Amino acid sequence: MSASIQPNYSLNTVDILIIGAGLAGLSAANDLKRAGKNVLVVDKGRGLGGRLAGRRIGDATFDHGAQFMTTRNPRFQDTVAEWVKAGVAEEWYSSYPGNENGHPRYRGVPTMTAIAKTMATDITILRSVRALTLSQHNHQWLTTLDNGQKVLAKSLLITAPIPQSIDLLASGNIQIPAAKQTRLDRIEYEACIAVMAVLENSSAIPAPGAIAIEDGPIAWISDNQQKGVSTTPAVTIHGSAEFSAEHFEQDHQTVGQLLIDAAQPLLNANVTEFQVHGWRYSKPSVVDPEPCMLLSEGTDLPPLALAGDAFNGPRVEGAVVSGWAAAKVLAGLV
Ligand SMILES: Cc1cc2nc3c(=O)[nH]c(=O)nc-3n(C[C@H](O)[C@H](O)[C@H](O)COP(=O)(O)OP(=O)(O)OC[C@H]3O[C@@H](n4cnc5c(N)ncnc54)[C@H](O)[C@@H]3O)c2cc1C
Repeated sequence: MSASIQPNYSLNTVDILIIGAGLAGLSAANDLKRAGKNVLVVDKGRGLGGRLAGRRIGDATFDHGAQFMTTRNPRFQDTVAEWVKAGVAEEWYSSYPGNENGHPRYRGVPTMTAIAKTMATDITILRSVRALTLSQHNHQWLTTLDNGQKVLAKSLLITAPIPQSIDLLASGNIQIPAAKQTRLDRIEYEACIAVMAVLENSSAIPAPGAIAIEDGPIAWISDNQQKGVSTTPAVTIHGSAEFSAEHFEQDHQTVGQLLIDAAQPLLNANVTEFQVHGWRYSKPSVVDPEPCMLLSEGTDLPPLALAGDAFNGPRVEGAVVSGWAAAKVLAGLV
């Protein structure tokens, strides 16, 4: 479908439009920029980093999305080493009670969002701007944004969680080849209800200030004060996938209180205030084995790719590696 361009609105023209300033979008943007491409990133969120998210409540500071990064891919190991050298990441822990020789978990300094801010340094990003619809114009992608602007791009990379990416593709009546649709249909996500609780006193959580729990309503508790994120007592509690799915549509404050009650024996401190955030697509529980998906391959579409943690592993590292893979594919097509 080819759209016409009316003379009266603001139009950006770029080589590549990236939807999403999470880790996949930012890692792709950096590689594409290094390859000499003119790149624009748009994100509907106010902050950068997508599921790398932080929040403040009074003097308390929280990482309430991703809690740490692990490194297996050699290029990602080198990248994290550079971040450590630059002071925006550090090793948080590698062993904890019951697991004495685990692999290193790195955290952002001062918070996880520092990683996204570093990656965004030289990138042109429109924040608090949602991509609404896609269409084609002269074999390029014409994207309508909710700030009234349109972007004409030779190539498009979508890094939203897959159900949201599929909605965007549907807005442009973009036919997904059947084999790729089957792969996308297999991808599944877990929900996560995250509670950010301010404590009266320091928590009783043992060093290193993080507990992963196998059973029950809680999957994870971390002590942002011990972690070095917060100067005052503050914990993040993540509901388990089962608990979060069961309670996702209920009143979040009520559900948050249930998690606080369940966490109380570990906290051993009164909660003075709390907020709740629901992550509908927190982590993929079933991922695609390929690092990204070139949807336009073998079609008449202008270059169009999908990337994100659904393609390379349900974690920070997977999202970054997927962004790099998509950048490599798209750089060769524009
Ligand atoms: C609670 C929680 C705990 C986690 N814990 C860990 C952990 O400890 N370790 C780990 O490695 N990983 C963890 N993860 C997973 C990790 O955060 C993700 O794998 C990674 O951040 C995903 O990055 P991404 O770029 O693929 O997607 P996202 O970060 O989701 O980025 C996608 C971006 O697209 C934007 N977007 C979507 N639709 C539109 C649109 N129409 N227009 C404009 N913008 C749009 C969104 O606002 C978002 O910023 C956790 C995630 C959650 C939620």
